[in-house]
Amino acid sequence: MKFAIRLIIFYFFNVTFVLASPCVILISFDGFRWDYLNRGLTPNLVSFASKGVRAISLEPSFPSGTFPNHYSIVTGLYPENHGIIGNHIFNPFYKTVFSLRDSNAVTDPRWYLGEAIWETARRQGILTASFFWPGSELTLEYRRPDYFVPFNSKIPYKKRIDSVIQWLKLPYEKRPKFITLYFEETDKKGHDFGPNSPQVDSAIKICDNLFGYFLEKLKNIQFLDSVNIIVVSDHGMTEIHPNQIINLSKFLQVGEIKANSYGYLVSISGNKDSISKVYNILKQNENNFNVYRRNDLPKNLNFSQNPLIGEVVVLPEFGWIVAIDSSEYTYKVKATHGFDNHWLDMHGVFIAGGPAFKQNYTTGTLRNIDIYPLICKILNIVPRQNIDGKIECIEYILR
Ligand SMILES: [Zn+2]
Repeated sequence: MKFAIRLIIFYFFNVTFVLASPCVILISFDGFRWDYLNRGLTPNLVSFASKGVRAISLEPSFPSGTFPNHYSIVTGLYPENHGIIGNHIFNPFYKTVFSLRDSNAVTDPRWYLGEAIWETARRQGILTASFFWPGSELTLEYRRPDYFVPFNSKIPYKKRIDSVIQWLKLPYEKRPKFITLYFEETDKKGHDFGPNSPQVDSAIKICDNLFGYFLEKLKNIQFLDSVNIIVVSDHGMTEIHPNQIINLSKFLQVGEIKANSYGYLVSISGNKDSISKVYNILKQNENNFNVYRRNDLPKNLNFSQNPLIGEVVVLPEFGWIVAIDSSEYTYKVKATHGFDNHWLDMHGVFIAGGPAFKQNYTTGTLRNIDIYPLICKILNIVPRQNIDGKIECIEYILR
């Protein structure tokens, strides 16, 4: 009898503990523009959103690129503060280059400032896992999720989902409570064919089918009602007009400078005299672009407090591209992103559901830097103190 009571007490506490311990799954569909949900192609995502929370859009941080924003989402920091100020970064002090195509650079912890959510969670005893996320593969063990997979675009999308399901099926003490998933389909097709192409419509459908597949799998293992799912994208996408590409090379034949061109921005560093010359020349020729000293960049971009940003920065006006070698934009891509994060074309999606979230709730635009403190709140962990995100700006979507 005593044994039976003890068993009941043991079972009760264990089950209570299991139910009380929250789980968050963060899914990114790269380059999934905010309005892709309005095309009638996403029954699974829309139905999930209608039961939980849907924001009109998710505002990225500047620049609205893949690495900067995925890392803003998991750190709550603007790129100027987490250090990943672009997909390609030149460090003029050490003459080193960060590039998302360079596996040594993307795994080098020295580029990544701040603290990702998995680091915060691990430190507080919560197991984490990632089936891809920028910044999840660092060579420092304690700065990575407990379980992670090095990025490999050849791993089929469904296999990524199946692996996450396997993690969720692990015994309780080995099961991660925070998991990321990443799919690049919409970004790839967006660049190659443009956001209004049939190929992007197909990519949107692929994403929605994958989401449906994931929900089905969660249901099969009886997890669907107990996990919190947040679906985001890092940025949107906008078409390039081939006759609206500004070629700056003719202005830049000035002394010793190094200019890096990204389409949405040209960053220029060099010695003091050359920098002054190049600034003056560009200023006199401002036409469909604006030139700034780093510290004079518009405050709402939150993009000046990092020494790796060039001393002179050129930004295009809406609809234009700034380049040094314009051929890249004329021939290779149909659409791009990275521009002013306030432009709606740059906005992504945010939908969420699960026990932590309000139901049938639609809200306005959310900021991606607020997601880190939101996840900390759901997981009952203490966020890092000095972050840019503010829990007050987003916690109203929770129950
Ligand atoms: Zn992206």
